[in-house]
Order: sequence, then structure tokens, then C-alpha cells
Amino acid sequence: MVKDLKLVDPQIYDSIKNEENREMNNLVLIASENYTSRAVREAQGSILTHKYAEGYPGKRYYGGCEYVDIVEKLAVERAKKLFSSPHVNVQPHSGSQANMAVYFSVMNPGDVLLGMDISSGGHLTHGHRVNFSGKVFRPCFYGVRKEDELIDFNEVEDKAKKHRPRVIVCGASAYSRIIDFKTFREIADKVGAYLLADIAHIAGEVAAGVHPSPFPHAHFVTTTTHKTLRGPRGGLIMCKEEFAHAVDTMVFPGIQGGPLMHIIAAKAVCLKEALSEGFREYQEQIVKNARLLAGLLQEKGYRIVSGGTDNHLFLVDLRAKKMTGKEAETILGKAGISVNKNTIPFDPLPPALTSGIRIGTPSITTRGMKEEEIEIIANLIDEVLSHRGEEKILEKTRKEVRELCERFPVSF
Ligand SMILES: *Cc1c(COP(=O)(O)O)cnc(C)c1O
Repeated sequence: MVKDLKLVDPQIYDSIKNEENREMNNLVLIASENYTSRAVREAQGSILTHKYAEGYPGKRYYGGCEYVDIVEKLAVERAKKLFSSPHVNVQPHSGSQANMAVYFSVMNPGDVLLGMDISSGGHLTHGHRVNFSGKVFRPCFYGVRKEDELIDFNEVEDKAKKHRPRVIVCGASAYSRIIDFKTFREIADKVGAYLLADIAHIAGEVAAGVHPSPFPHAHFVTTTTHKTLRGPRGGLIMCKEEFAHAVDTMVFPGIQGGPLMHIIAAKAVCLKEALSEGFREYQEQIVKNARLLAGLLQEKGYRIVSGGTDNHLFLVDLRAKKMTGKEAETILGKAGISVNKNTIPFDPLPPALTSGIRIGTPSITTRGMKEEEIEIIANLIDEVLSHRGEEKILEKTRKEVRELCERFPVSF
């Protein structure tokens, strides 16, 4: 049985090694990605993957759960403490599954869901027509104002009054400003809707107090654990005690089978790390880095959507540069700078092209990069884009990116 991956499956082994090198030697500015600690990956790669543990600690459908019960209880306790949440379910396999479980715990097929338009920064699971959330429920949307690209609460209220949603979902994948959970709740109360705050992107900032908490305003809070929270790929649901039973039974047996105990162990580890000293400074630095990078690009003539950022990400409008998001993503990628194309509010171009790119600082901040490095990165981005990826410039940039990456190694 003791055979290494390299021997058993050299193709997969090589791909992992190549990916390791890619992650080490590129500047990852993808806002939804991060580097986990070795401790997180050790738990994630552990033998806990063998164990079937359908049910919850103390109430399992399988024997031999005494150790995985400890693991799950620790994960729950830590999440409760970190987010000051009355009840937590740590079993959702992903952020999407967390949202699905919340929706089904309070909605029936055909009920109305009010979410943020994807082109304003919302997520597929907030009612998009290609997603289950837009097929099973009747979706309606709010967005941002044209003038300042901030959430339009008049529109949220108008839509809520007009469509009478059962659930209003707030939280986003590409919105760079503070989310005002209190106002969302006031609107939800006016129409008798539940408020779900999906903090998938900003969970780390919320945990560190760098972004206001959705509690006590939201009835439900969902998140991923792999973005700013810097844990394994997965989801969490938090809610008040009164919804605990509905949520737990919807996660299992409602929409999932056996929990991924190795992932839950890794979630426990990342939550412990998030409760430890240094995490707050890390989150503060992420935001400082994002603000500075947005500001420097602005000085170089790039338009930043909504004029800046309060969190770990921002959108760059490339229309004035006569370049699409797709082109920019490709060119920067060739230079060793990894970003993603992203629609901007009221984007005239389709999602496959887009007029913007999304830039995020969690990964480079995990590497230890600060203000000085951000200035270098801003210059590199501008140089590559201004020269539309001229080979000479690309070569020079790749070298500088590599040097920067070597000075701030990712320790795998
Ligand atoms: C990333 C994200 C999700 C979904 O997470 P997955 O784990 O990819 O399913 C849900 N909501 C928002 C706002 C997100 O940004």
C-alpha cells in the first residue's frame, strides 16, 4: 500500500508539481484565491477522508465516529467564536451548497428570491438563470446605481415591495464597497422576507472586524472557507438558534450525504488560525494593499469602478484603454500576473469578453507583500497593459515577477 503518487500516477504527480511551480512563480491577483497553510493541507490530506459520518456529532448513522465527532465539534465551536454566531453548520461542501441549503430551508420551488445582479457583482447562486437558484425559484434582481456604482437601496426596496421575495440575498463576488447589512434587514422586515448575507468573499475581513459583521442583522449567513478566510475549499452556514434545525436537516439529509470529514478538520484548523494573533493584521494589510494598488492604478489613468475599494478587491474599467478584460487577462497572464476578466456594472460587452478585470490582494498579502511591493506591481501591470503585451516588455516583466516571487516565497 505504501506507494507514492509519483510512482502510482506520474501524470497527476507532474501536473501537481507544475501547478505548485505556477503558484509559486506567478503573482496571483485573483480575488477569490489564497494560499492555505501547511497545517490546513495536512488535515485536508488526512485519512479522515475514509470516514462515513452522516448525521451530526453524537447523532450519526455510522459507528466509529468518536474522533470525527471531536473534529466537527471543534470546527463548530471555533466558527461560533470567530463570527459570534449562535449556530453553525460546518458541513456544506462549498459556498454554493451552503446557499442551496439556506434557500431550501425557508423556500419552496416557485418562491421569489431577490438577489444582486451578476453584472453588478452578485454570484451565480443569487438567482442567475443558468444556476439552480434561477431555475427553482423566481428570481428578481437589484443592482448598483449608474452614477456612483454603489448598491441602490431605493431599487432594493422598490423591487422588494413589487416582487415580495421570501429571501433577499446580499453579499457579492465583485463589489468593492462595505455592504450595509442593517439597511438590507430594514428592507427585508418591511416585506416580511428573510435576509441571507453571503459573505463568501469578505469572511476573513468580517472575522477580523475589518468589515462590519452581518450579525445581528441577517437571519442567515453563508460563506466559503477558501477565499479571504484562507482555509480549505468548502462552505459554512451560520444562523440564529431558531433556524438551526431547519438548516441542519436541509444540509443532511436534505441536499448532501456524508460530510467531508477531512475538509471539516481543515476548516477547524483554518478557524483556529483565524482566531490567532496576526490574523487581524493580515486582513488589515490585505485591505491596505488593495486600496494602494487601486489608488496607484488610478493615478496611472485607469478608472476604478466606484472610485476605489473598502475591501480586498476592485474592478478596473479598461474601456478608456481600448482593451477588453479578456485581452488584459491574457496579456497579464503571459507576464506572470494572474487576474480574471470581469464584467463591470452596465458592461456593454458580454461576459466572455468584458470591459474589466478584477484584482484582489489576499494571495500576495499571504506571501508577505506590502506597500513597497504593491508599487512595483502597479508599475508592472501598467507597463504590460500600456505596451499591449509587447514581447520585450513581457520578458522584462516575467523576470521582475519572478524576482518578486522569489523574495516572497510561498512555502509548500
Ligand atoms: C465564491 C462565492 C460563492 C460560491 O462558492 P463555491 O465554493 O465556489 O461554490 C458563493 N457566493 C459568493 C458571493 C461567492 O463569491
